[in-house]
Amino acid sequence: MIYADVIVDISHEKLDRSFQYLVPGELEREIRVGMVAAIPFGNGNRERKGYIVGLSQKPRYDPAKLKPLYRLCSGEETTESRLVSLAAWMRERYGSTMAQALKTVIPVRKKVRAKEKRYLYLNIERDEAEKLAESLEKKHCRARARLVRALMSESPMEYTKASGELGMTAGVLKPLAEQGVVKVSQNEVCRLPEVVRQAPKEPAAELTNVQKEALGQIRNEWQKKTARPVLIHGVTGSGKTQIYMKLIEDTVAEGKQAIVLIPEIALTYQTVRRFCGYFGDKVSVLNSRLSQGERYDQFRRAKKGEIQVIVGPRSALFTPFSRLGLIIIDEEHEQTYKSETSPRYHASEVAVKRAEMEGARVVFGSATPSLESYTKAVSGEYLLVKLNERYRNRSLPNVSVVDLRKELRAGNRSVLSRTLKEAIEERLSRKEQTMLFLNRRGYAGFVSCRSCGSVLKCPHCDVALSEHNNGKMICHYCGYERETVKKCPVCGSPYIGGFKAGTQQIEQVLHKNFPEAGILRMDYDTTRTKGSYEQILSSFAAHKADILVGTQMIVKGHDFPDVTLVGVIAADLSLNAADYRSAERTFQLLTQAVGRSGRGKRQGEAIIQTYHPDHYSIQAAAEQNYEKFYQEEMGYRTLMDYPPAAHMLSVLASGEEEELLEKGIGYIRKFAERVSPGPKLHIIGPASAAVGKVNDVYRRVLYLKYREERTLLEIKDKIEKYIEINPGFRKLYIQYDFE
Ligand code: ADP
Ligand code: ZN
Ligand code: ZN
Repeated sequence: MIYADVIVDISHEKLDRSFQYLVPGELEREIRVGMVAAIPFGNGNRERKGYIVGLSQKPRYDPAKLKPLYRLCSGEETTESRLVSLAAWMRERYGSTMAQALKTVIPVRKKVRAKEKRYLYLNIERDEAEKLAESLEKKHCRARARLVRALMSESPMEYTKASGELGMTAGVLKPLAEQGVVKVSQNEVCRLPEVVRQAPKEPAAELTNVQKEALGQIRNEWQKKTARPVLIHGVTGSGKTQIYMKLIEDTVAEGKQAIVLIPEIALTYQTVRRFCGYFGDKVSVLNSRLSQGERYDQFRRAKKGEIQVIVGPRSALFTPFSRLGLIIIDEEHEQTYKSETSPRYHASEVAVKRAEMEGARVVFGSATPSLESYTKAVSGEYLLVKLNERYRNRSLPNVSVVDLRKELRAGNRSVLSRTLKEAIEERLSRKEQTMLFLNRRGYAGFVSCRSCGSVLKCPHCDVALSEHNNGKMICHYCGYERETVKKCPVCGSPYIGGFKAGTQQIEQVLHKNFPEAGILRMDYDTTRTKGSYEQILSSFAAHKADILVGTQMIVKGHDFPDVTLVGVIAADLSLNAADYRSAERTFQLLTQAVGRSGRGKRQGEAIIQTYHPDHYSIQAAAEQNYEKFYQEEMGYRTLMDYPPAAHMLSVLASGEEEELLEKGIGYIRKFAERVSPGPKLHIIGPASAAVGKVNDVYRRVLYLKYREERTLLEIKDKIEKYIEINPGFRKLYIQYDFE
């Protein structure tokens, strides 16, 4: 007997509550997860439609009380049913529960939905608004002036707030609304930040010959019956985005829809502005600051066909378009495309799967493709399209590498090498802009003792505490705080201090060295409030500051034509991370950072400071030579059996009892050895996970490496079954992760 778990009316149901039905014998062969079925529901056994979200051999309730489902409604596939099938695939692939997978692909509507709210927003540019407010004040129209000013600092503003706190009456609003100064709208229309809504119309660009050729290659591929995914490997500024625009236009013209993934909110500012400028009302944006309800609204608009294009982060991949035609993943190599919660999926993989299920196309783009994707492109699994030059042949920046060891020997203890300092001075005198990049957030990073080497750690999480400007030490995992210490708690030495290389500290050094310069800082701390990203970026774009200093969030995607110098403070910070991908990450970050320089008419320069000037990732980035890096790095991966040369499965176990955890992971290791296909399966660990203990939960990880992925998948399935039947594992939480 087979039992089916069914969810009725998926958008309203709590997704982890399904109803179980008997599957009549004649349907057993046909039934699949994701299908729509007619079922008897409620006391009257009224016929309703539901989605099959799981199938099992075991009943969860007394089988005598279960009702059989009526029939399968084949041919009634809906957008949701396809997403349910996708969830089933993700459950299988990444070893999550079905409920977790469903929650990932289907946005749940909140139980109680607030009444539709009305909003007011400013519909003119700020300087115009300022002038208007002044003239209204002169004419003694105080109430109107007050409303305009209020909207200048908060737009959109809830209607009730304006009428309540500001005492706005209909008579005040009416003339402003009639002049088009203020707009009133329902909930979902005006969610985009102001800069985006007011994006200037972007005219369709005439492609260069190189770009036309690339576009032609892609269109050719799309003529084929089963088009391969496309990887556009294009140097920064080569026009990848221009090509995306054309491809989306093609897709919309066919009556289909497009999903564009971009890596993180920092990107929304310029990229989204361009998309909005190009596609106008057809496009909507998702970002991580939207509430669940707001995200749901955007998805509903997509489903109703009100928009054709959606731009957003990883989760936008699951936009319920009914005729999905294209998925674009820009900056394909970015880590943000990998989910760190169960199901631990990678957006690229799921994109290819969803596209396959729905007959859509996939385009990846990057200046520094991940080794995985590039390997697929080289092998012909993807179509490789190259854009080797910048638009208008603008040359790539001149890059120099500064050896920090030599600086120290020459007696320079500053975070700025002499070369970098001079280069900044030059920019200031020429009224050009500089970006300084540091791969770390916070004030000074960890605190260590120079006498005995101890590092101050969080007592709950086993990670180094970060020193902040306010004299506090903070754990970035759990938020634990303590005062900074004057003496080493281990040996009593007074020589304890921070590793002085945080963004705040660099900002201070800059202020001291260049008191006249306008400096902006962009990092985790300065971007926590709503709109702060956009504010920092737009004032830098408007050249209201000379120097922008920040963490990795400043290096991606932005296009500031006045920036002619990029400085990397310490390339080693990412190079020394304990991860087999650290060289790749370093190469990518440096290449992206260098690519920010000289995007306008003037020649750009970049300076990379490092303690490892000979490392191939740094040298290849300095030359902007992806091929060279790829060859070197693949050699290393092959030698060490790391992905993509081999495949790697990590089994992450966590639990509150350390002893039980040790035992459990030990058994899993033994079991893996037992089902191993031979000595070619490498088992590493169990080791403490990168973070051994978070919030008093212990974590251990086991790595399995093998040349063939299928074998690893089989081993994963066997481990899953082994754990399921073994009650000893009940108190442990096991997750799987590929690569
Ligand atoms: P990428 O996405 O590869 O970094 P973009 O598409 O953002 O490159 O192009 C870089 C810059 O060059 C942008 O400012 C863009 O407007 C401009 N550009 C690129 N191609 C063209 C073109 N064919 N016509 C006009 N401007 C272009
Ligand atoms: Zn000490
Ligand atoms: Zn902690």
